[in-house]
Amino acid sequence: MSNQVSKVLVFAEISNGKVKKGALELLTAARAASLSTQIVLLGTGAKAAAGTMGGWGVSEAFVGDNAAFDQYNPEVFAESVAGIIKDSGADTVLASSSLLARDLFPRVAARLGTAAVSDCTELALGGGLKVRRPMYSGKCSAEVSFLSAGPKIVLMRANQLPVGEPSGAGQVAIKDVPAPTTSGLKTLIKEVLKGASGKLDLTEANIIVSGGRGLKEAANFKLIETLADSCGATVGASRAIVDAGWVSHSMQVGQTGKTVAPSLYIAVGISGAIQHLAGMSGSRVIVAINKDANAPIFQKATYGLVGDLFEIVPLLTEEFKALHS
Ligand SMILES: Cc1cc2nc3c(=O)[nH]c(=O)nc-3n(C[C@H](O)[C@H](O)[C@H](O)COP(=O)(O)OP(=O)(O)OC[C@H]3O[C@@H](n4cnc5c(N)ncnc54)[C@H](O)[C@@H]3O)c2cc1C
Repeated sequence: MSNQVSKVLVFAEISNGKVKKGALELLTAARAASLSTQIVLLGTGAKAAAGTMGGWGVSEAFVGDNAAFDQYNPEVFAESVAGIIKDSGADTVLASSSLLARDLFPRVAARLGTAAVSDCTELALGGGLKVRRPMYSGKCSAEVSFLSAGPKIVLMRANQLPVGEPSGAGQVAIKDVPAPTTSGLKTLIKEVLKGASGKLDLTEANIIVSGGRGLKEAANFKLIETLADSCGATVGASRAIVDAGWVSHSMQVGQTGKTVAPSLYIAVGISGAIQHLAGMSGSRVIVAINKDANAPIFQKATYGLVGDLFEIVPLLTEEFKALHS
Protein backbone atom coordinates (compact mmCIF):
# COMPACT_ATOMS: atom_id res chain seq x y z
CA MET A 1 0.00 0.00 0.00
CA SER A 2 2.61 2.49 -1.07
CA ASN A 3 1.60 6.11 -1.34
CA GLN A 4 4.53 6.74 -3.70
CA VAL A 5 3.63 8.61 -6.87
CA SER A 6 5.82 8.05 -9.90
CA LYS A 7 3.50 7.93 -12.91
CA VAL A 8 0.42 10.13 -13.13
CA LEU A 9 -2.46 9.81 -15.58
CA VAL A 10 -4.72 12.88 -15.86
CA PHE A 11 -8.23 12.37 -17.22
CA ALA A 12 -9.00 15.62 -19.05
CA GLU A 13 -12.40 16.75 -20.25
CA ILE A 14 -12.51 18.91 -23.35
CA SER A 15 -14.94 21.64 -24.29
CA ASN A 16 -14.95 23.26 -27.75
CA GLY A 17 -11.66 21.54 -28.50
CA LYS A 18 -9.92 22.93 -25.43
CA VAL A 19 -8.78 21.10 -22.30
CA LYS A 20 -10.87 22.29 -19.36
CA LYS A 21 -9.27 24.34 -16.59
CA GLY A 22 -9.76 21.63 -13.93
CA ALA A 23 -7.42 19.32 -15.84
CA LEU A 24 -4.87 22.12 -16.32
CA GLU A 25 -4.81 22.57 -12.52
CA LEU A 26 -3.94 18.88 -12.14
CA LEU A 27 -1.28 19.01 -14.87
CA THR A 28 0.26 22.04 -13.16
CA ALA A 29 0.45 20.09 -9.87
CA ALA A 30 2.02 17.05 -11.58
CA ARG A 31 4.54 19.24 -13.42
CA ALA A 32 5.51 21.02 -10.20
CA ALA A 33 6.28 17.62 -8.66
CA SER A 34 8.37 16.67 -11.77
CA LEU A 35 6.31 13.54 -12.38
CA SER A 36 6.02 11.49 -15.53
CA THR A 37 2.59 12.50 -16.80
CA GLN A 38 0.13 11.00 -19.25
CA ILE A 39 -3.24 12.33 -20.27
CA VAL A 40 -6.56 10.85 -21.45
CA LEU A 41 -8.57 12.87 -23.99
CA LEU A 42 -11.82 11.51 -25.40
CA GLY A 43 -14.18 12.95 -28.02
CA THR A 44 -14.04 14.93 -31.22
CA GLY A 45 -11.04 17.28 -31.28
CA ALA A 46 -9.07 15.17 -28.79
CA LYS A 47 -6.11 14.70 -31.13
CA ALA A 48 -5.68 18.42 -31.79
CA ALA A 49 -5.96 19.13 -28.05
CA ALA A 50 -3.35 16.43 -27.29
CA GLY A 51 -0.86 18.14 -29.60
CA THR A 52 -0.88 21.21 -27.36
CA MET A 53 -0.15 19.33 -24.14
CA GLY A 54 3.64 19.08 -24.38
CA GLY A 55 4.05 22.45 -22.69
CA TRP A 56 2.11 21.12 -19.72
CA GLY A 57 4.64 18.37 -19.06
CA VAL A 58 2.62 15.61 -20.75
CA SER A 59 4.75 12.93 -22.42
CA GLU A 60 2.03 10.56 -23.59
CA ALA A 61 -1.62 11.04 -24.55
CA PHE A 62 -4.31 8.37 -24.81
CA VAL A 63 -6.53 9.83 -27.49
CA GLY A 64 -10.02 8.70 -28.48
CA ASP A 65 -10.78 11.26 -31.21
CA ASN A 66 -14.10 9.64 -31.90
CA ALA A 67 -17.65 11.00 -31.91
CA ALA A 68 -18.69 7.93 -29.91
CA PHE A 69 -17.09 9.68 -26.92
CA ASP A 70 -18.80 13.05 -27.45
CA GLN A 71 -21.77 12.03 -25.38
CA TYR A 72 -21.08 10.57 -21.94
CA ASN A 73 -22.34 7.03 -21.67
CA PRO A 74 -21.29 5.40 -18.37
CA GLU A 75 -20.87 1.93 -19.86
CA VAL A 76 -18.79 3.08 -22.82
CA PHE A 77 -16.57 5.39 -20.79
CA ALA A 78 -16.04 3.01 -17.85
CA GLU A 79 -14.88 0.18 -20.14
CA SER A 80 -12.56 2.41 -22.17
CA VAL A 81 -11.08 4.37 -19.26
CA ALA A 82 -10.45 1.23 -17.17
CA GLY A 83 -8.60 -0.22 -20.17
CA ILE A 84 -6.54 2.95 -20.61
CA ILE A 85 -5.54 2.99 -16.94
CA LYS A 86 -4.37 -0.63 -17.18
CA ASP A 87 -2.33 0.12 -20.32
CA SER A 88 -0.83 3.28 -18.88
CA GLY A 89 0.82 1.63 -15.88
CA ALA A 90 0.03 4.80 -13.90
CA ASP A 91 0.05 4.46 -10.12
CA THR A 92 -2.05 7.62 -9.65
CA VAL A 93 -5.03 8.80 -11.69
CA LEU A 94 -6.21 12.41 -11.34
CA ALA A 95 -9.42 13.99 -12.61
CA SER A 96 -11.44 17.08 -11.88
CA SER A 97 -14.41 16.20 -9.65
CA SER A 98 -17.04 17.03 -12.28
CA LEU A 99 -20.47 15.40 -12.49
CA LEU A 100 -19.12 13.19 -15.27
CA ALA A 101 -16.05 12.13 -13.29
CA ARG A 102 -18.04 11.46 -10.12
CA ASP A 103 -20.29 9.13 -12.07
CA LEU A 104 -17.50 7.52 -14.07
CA PHE A 105 -14.68 6.81 -11.65
CA PRO A 106 -16.49 4.69 -9.04
CA ARG A 107 -17.40 2.41 -11.98
CA VAL A 108 -13.80 2.41 -13.21
CA ALA A 109 -12.50 1.75 -9.69
CA ALA A 110 -14.86 -1.21 -9.32
CA ARG A 111 -13.59 -2.65 -12.61
CA LEU A 112 -9.96 -2.28 -11.48
CA GLY A 113 -10.53 -3.44 -7.90
CA THR A 114 -9.24 -0.15 -6.53
CA ALA A 115 -10.70 2.97 -4.89
CA ALA A 116 -11.70 6.43 -6.09
CA VAL A 117 -11.85 9.41 -3.74
CA SER A 118 -14.01 12.27 -4.95
CA ASP A 119 -14.47 15.93 -4.03
CA CYS A 120 -10.94 16.40 -2.69
CA THR A 121 -9.79 19.88 -1.78
CA GLU A 122 -6.10 19.32 -1.03
CA LEU A 123 -3.56 17.38 -3.03
CA ALA A 124 0.16 16.85 -2.58
CA LEU A 125 2.06 14.64 -5.03
CA GLY A 126 5.74 15.19 -4.25
CA GLY A 127 7.00 13.05 -1.34
CA GLY A 128 4.03 10.67 -1.59
CA LEU A 129 0.34 11.14 -2.24
CA LYS A 130 -1.56 13.24 0.29
CA VAL A 131 -5.24 13.90 -0.22
CA ARG A 132 -7.75 15.73 1.93
CA ARG A 133 -11.52 15.98 1.50
CA PRO A 134 -14.34 17.63 3.46
CA MET A 135 -16.78 15.41 5.36
CA TYR A 136 -20.12 15.84 7.12
CA SER A 137 -21.22 18.83 5.02
CA GLY A 138 -17.87 20.51 5.48
CA LYS A 139 -17.89 20.37 9.30
CA CYS A 140 -14.51 18.62 9.22
CA SER A 141 -12.02 17.31 6.70
CA ALA A 142 -10.21 13.98 6.49
CA GLU A 143 -6.87 12.89 5.16
CA VAL A 144 -7.46 9.82 3.02
CA SER A 145 -5.15 6.81 2.64
CA PHE A 146 -5.51 4.21 -0.07
CA LEU A 147 -5.49 0.63 1.17
CA SER A 148 -5.92 -1.09 -2.20
CA ALA A 149 -2.88 -2.10 -4.23
CA GLY A 150 -4.23 -0.80 -7.56
CA PRO A 151 -3.92 2.69 -8.99
CA LYS A 152 -5.05 5.46 -6.67
CA ILE A 153 -7.86 7.54 -8.21
CA VAL A 154 -8.25 11.10 -6.93
CA LEU A 155 -10.98 13.52 -8.05
CA MET A 156 -10.14 17.12 -7.15
CA ARG A 157 -12.69 19.91 -6.87
CA ALA A 158 -12.09 22.56 -9.52
CA ASN A 159 -10.51 25.91 -8.54
CA GLN A 160 -8.55 24.44 -5.59
CA LEU A 161 -5.14 24.41 -7.27
CA PRO A 162 -3.31 27.10 -9.22
CA VAL A 163 -3.05 26.89 -13.01
CA GLY A 164 0.37 27.56 -14.49
CA GLU A 165 1.28 28.51 -18.04
CA PRO A 166 2.44 26.10 -20.72
CA SER A 167 6.21 26.22 -21.10
CA GLY A 168 8.40 24.75 -23.82
CA ALA A 169 7.12 22.50 -26.56
CA GLY A 170 7.73 18.95 -25.38
CA GLN A 171 6.78 16.09 -27.66
CA VAL A 172 3.61 14.18 -26.86
CA ALA A 173 3.46 10.54 -27.96
CA ILE A 174 -0.07 9.77 -29.14
CA LYS A 175 -1.66 6.40 -28.34
CA ASP A 176 -4.95 5.87 -30.13
CA VAL A 177 -7.77 4.57 -27.97
CA PRO A 178 -9.81 1.94 -29.84
CA ALA A 179 -13.34 2.95 -30.82
CA PRO A 180 -15.71 1.65 -28.15
CA THR A 181 -17.97 -1.28 -28.90
CA THR A 182 -21.51 -0.03 -28.76
CA SER A 183 -23.21 -3.38 -29.33
CA GLY A 184 -24.73 -5.05 -26.29
CA LEU A 185 -24.97 -1.82 -24.29
CA LYS A 186 -27.65 -1.78 -21.63
CA THR A 187 -28.22 1.96 -21.93
CA LEU A 188 -28.45 4.29 -24.89
CA ILE A 189 -28.51 8.10 -24.66
CA LYS A 190 -31.21 9.17 -27.11
CA GLU A 191 -31.25 12.92 -26.57
CA VAL A 192 -29.49 15.52 -24.45
CA LEU A 193 -31.18 18.81 -23.65
CA LYS A 194 -28.57 21.44 -22.89
CA GLY A 195 -29.21 24.61 -20.90
CA ALA A 196 -29.35 27.66 -23.13
CA SER A 197 -27.15 29.89 -20.97
CA GLY A 198 -23.89 28.93 -22.68
CA LYS A 199 -22.15 29.82 -19.40
CA LEU A 200 -19.62 27.71 -17.53
CA ASP A 201 -21.09 24.98 -15.37
CA LEU A 202 -21.36 25.96 -11.69
CA THR A 203 -18.72 23.41 -10.68
CA GLU A 204 -16.14 25.06 -12.95
CA ALA A 205 -17.15 28.71 -12.61
CA ASN A 206 -14.66 31.23 -11.27
CA ILE A 207 -17.41 33.66 -10.17
CA ILE A 208 -20.91 32.68 -9.02
CA VAL A 209 -23.87 34.87 -8.10
CA SER A 210 -26.58 32.91 -6.26
CA GLY A 211 -30.07 34.01 -5.30
CA GLY A 212 -32.37 32.84 -2.53
CA ARG A 213 -35.84 33.30 -1.10
CA GLY A 214 -35.03 36.91 -0.17
CA LEU A 215 -35.79 37.69 -3.82
CA LYS A 216 -39.49 37.30 -2.92
CA GLU A 217 -40.71 36.09 -6.33
CA ALA A 218 -39.50 34.30 -9.45
CA ALA A 219 -39.53 37.41 -11.66
CA ASN A 220 -36.93 39.05 -9.39
CA PHE A 221 -34.36 36.39 -10.25
CA LYS A 222 -33.66 38.63 -13.25
CA LEU A 223 -31.71 40.83 -10.78
CA ILE A 224 -29.34 37.91 -10.14
CA GLU A 225 -28.92 37.22 -13.86
CA THR A 226 -28.15 40.86 -14.62
CA LEU A 227 -25.64 41.08 -11.79
CA ALA A 228 -24.03 37.85 -13.02
CA ASP A 229 -23.81 39.19 -16.60
CA SER A 230 -22.15 42.37 -15.35
CA CYS A 231 -19.26 40.45 -13.79
CA GLY A 232 -19.01 37.37 -16.03
CA ALA A 233 -20.48 35.04 -13.41
CA THR A 234 -22.52 31.85 -13.56
CA VAL A 235 -25.83 31.91 -11.69
CA GLY A 236 -26.70 29.61 -8.79
CA ALA A 237 -29.59 29.26 -6.36
CA SER A 238 -30.62 28.05 -2.94
CA ARG A 239 -32.87 25.04 -2.67
CA ALA A 240 -35.76 27.16 -1.42
CA ILE A 241 -36.20 28.78 -4.80
CA VAL A 242 -35.49 25.59 -6.72
CA ASP A 243 -38.24 23.83 -4.73
CA ALA A 244 -40.52 26.80 -5.41
CA GLY A 245 -40.00 26.20 -9.13
CA TRP A 246 -38.37 29.59 -9.81
CA VAL A 247 -35.23 28.09 -11.34
CA SER A 248 -34.03 24.66 -12.46
CA HIS A 249 -32.44 22.13 -10.12
CA SER A 250 -29.22 22.26 -12.15
CA MET A 251 -28.64 25.67 -10.51
CA GLN A 252 -28.94 24.46 -6.92
CA VAL A 253 -25.87 24.87 -4.73
CA GLY A 254 -25.57 22.80 -1.58
CA GLN A 255 -25.71 19.40 0.01
CA THR A 256 -28.34 18.10 -2.41
CA GLY A 257 -27.21 20.36 -5.24
CA LYS A 258 -23.78 21.17 -6.61
CA THR A 259 -20.57 21.68 -4.69
CA VAL A 260 -18.79 24.76 -5.94
CA ALA A 261 -15.49 26.44 -5.16
CA PRO A 262 -15.22 29.64 -7.19
CA SER A 263 -12.82 32.50 -6.49
CA LEU A 264 -15.82 34.70 -5.73
CA TYR A 265 -19.28 33.61 -4.49
CA ILE A 266 -21.94 36.29 -4.09
CA ALA A 267 -24.93 35.09 -2.02
CA VAL A 268 -27.99 37.30 -2.41
CA GLY A 269 -30.98 36.89 -0.09
CA ILE A 270 -29.72 33.52 1.12
CA SER A 271 -29.84 32.80 4.86
CA GLY A 272 -26.87 30.38 4.89
CA ALA A 273 -28.48 27.16 6.11
CA ILE A 274 -25.93 24.43 6.83
CA GLN A 275 -27.06 22.51 3.71
CA HIS A 276 -26.35 25.53 1.50
CA LEU A 277 -23.00 26.21 3.18
CA ALA A 278 -22.02 22.58 2.52
CA GLY A 279 -21.96 23.36 -1.18
CA MET A 280 -20.16 26.71 -1.24
CA SER A 281 -18.07 27.25 1.86
CA GLY A 282 -14.94 26.24 -0.08
CA SER A 283 -15.23 29.44 -2.16
CA ARG A 284 -12.18 31.68 -1.87
CA VAL A 285 -14.06 34.95 -1.27
CA ILE A 286 -17.70 35.00 -0.14
CA VAL A 287 -19.81 38.14 -0.33
CA ALA A 288 -23.20 37.98 1.40
CA ILE A 289 -26.06 40.42 0.88
CA ASN A 290 -28.81 40.02 3.46
CA LYS A 291 -31.04 42.40 5.38
CA ASP A 292 -30.77 40.31 8.56
CA ALA A 293 -27.45 41.06 10.29
CA ASN A 294 -27.79 37.77 12.21
CA ALA A 295 -28.20 35.57 9.14
CA PRO A 296 -25.81 32.58 9.44
CA ILE A 297 -24.32 33.33 6.00
CA PHE A 298 -22.40 36.22 7.59
CA GLN A 299 -20.43 33.75 9.72
CA LYS A 300 -18.90 32.36 6.52
CA ALA A 301 -18.76 35.59 4.53
CA THR A 302 -15.50 37.36 3.77
CA TYR A 303 -17.49 40.56 3.15
CA GLY A 304 -21.03 41.15 4.39
CA LEU A 305 -23.48 43.77 3.15
CA VAL A 306 -26.38 44.19 5.57
CA GLY A 307 -29.23 45.78 3.69
CA ASP A 308 -32.02 45.42 1.19
CA LEU A 309 -30.95 43.44 -1.84
CA PHE A 310 -33.38 45.40 -4.02
CA GLU A 311 -31.26 48.49 -3.34
CA ILE A 312 -27.81 46.91 -3.21
CA VAL A 313 -27.91 44.58 -6.22
CA PRO A 314 -28.72 47.27 -8.86
CA LEU A 315 -25.95 49.48 -7.42
CA LEU A 316 -23.45 46.62 -7.50
CA THR A 317 -24.49 45.78 -11.07
CA GLU A 318 -23.85 49.36 -12.18
CA GLU A 319 -20.43 49.33 -10.50
CA PHE A 320 -19.43 46.09 -12.24
CA LYS A 321 -20.67 47.45 -15.58
CA ALA A 322 -18.61 50.61 -15.09
CA LEU A 323 -15.54 48.51 -14.23
CA HIS A 324 -15.84 46.43 -17.38
CA SER A 325 -16.78 49.22 -19.80
C1 LIG B 1 -31.85 17.22 3.57
C2 LIG B 1 -31.82 18.65 3.16
C3 LIG B 1 -31.03 19.01 2.09
C4 LIG B 1 -30.97 20.35 1.68
N1 LIG B 1 -30.17 20.70 0.63
C5 LIG B 1 -30.04 22.01 0.31
C6 LIG B 1 -29.17 22.43 -0.72
O1 LIG B 1 -28.53 21.63 -1.40
N2 LIG B 1 -29.06 23.75 -0.98
C7 LIG B 1 -29.76 24.70 -0.28
O2 LIG B 1 -29.62 25.90 -0.57
N3 LIG B 1 -30.61 24.32 0.70
C8 LIG B 1 -30.77 23.01 1.00
N4 LIG B 1 -31.66 22.65 1.96
C9 LIG B 1 -32.60 23.68 2.48
C10 LIG B 1 -31.98 24.56 3.55
O3 LIG B 1 -32.14 23.96 4.81
C11 LIG B 1 -32.70 25.94 3.56
O4 LIG B 1 -34.08 25.74 3.74
C12 LIG B 1 -32.50 26.73 2.27
O5 LIG B 1 -31.13 26.80 1.95
C13 LIG B 1 -33.04 28.16 2.50
O6 LIG B 1 -32.96 28.88 1.31
P1 LIG B 1 -32.84 30.49 1.37
O7 LIG B 1 -31.61 30.84 2.13
O8 LIG B 1 -32.97 30.95 -0.03
O9 LIG B 1 -34.18 30.90 2.12
P2 LIG B 1 -34.39 31.47 3.57
O10 LIG B 1 -33.78 30.59 4.59
O11 LIG B 1 -35.85 31.75 3.67
O12 LIG B 1 -33.58 32.82 3.59
C14 LIG B 1 -33.93 33.97 2.88
C15 LIG B 1 -33.00 35.08 3.34
O13 LIG B 1 -33.27 36.23 2.58
C16 LIG B 1 -33.12 37.35 3.45
N5 LIG B 1 -33.90 38.45 2.86
C17 LIG B 1 -35.24 38.56 2.77
N6 LIG B 1 -35.58 39.71 2.13
C18 LIG B 1 -34.42 40.34 1.84
C19 LIG B 1 -34.12 41.56 1.19
N7 LIG B 1 -35.06 42.36 0.70
N8 LIG B 1 -32.82 41.91 1.07
C20 LIG B 1 -31.83 41.12 1.55
N9 LIG B 1 -32.07 39.94 2.18
C21 LIG B 1 -33.35 39.54 2.30
C22 LIG B 1 -33.64 36.89 4.78
O14 LIG B 1 -33.10 37.67 5.84
C23 LIG B 1 -33.15 35.45 4.82
O15 LIG B 1 -31.90 35.33 5.47
C24 LIG B 1 -31.74 21.32 2.37
C25 LIG B 1 -32.53 20.93 3.47
C26 LIG B 1 -32.57 19.62 3.84
C27 LIG B 1 -33.41 19.23 5.01
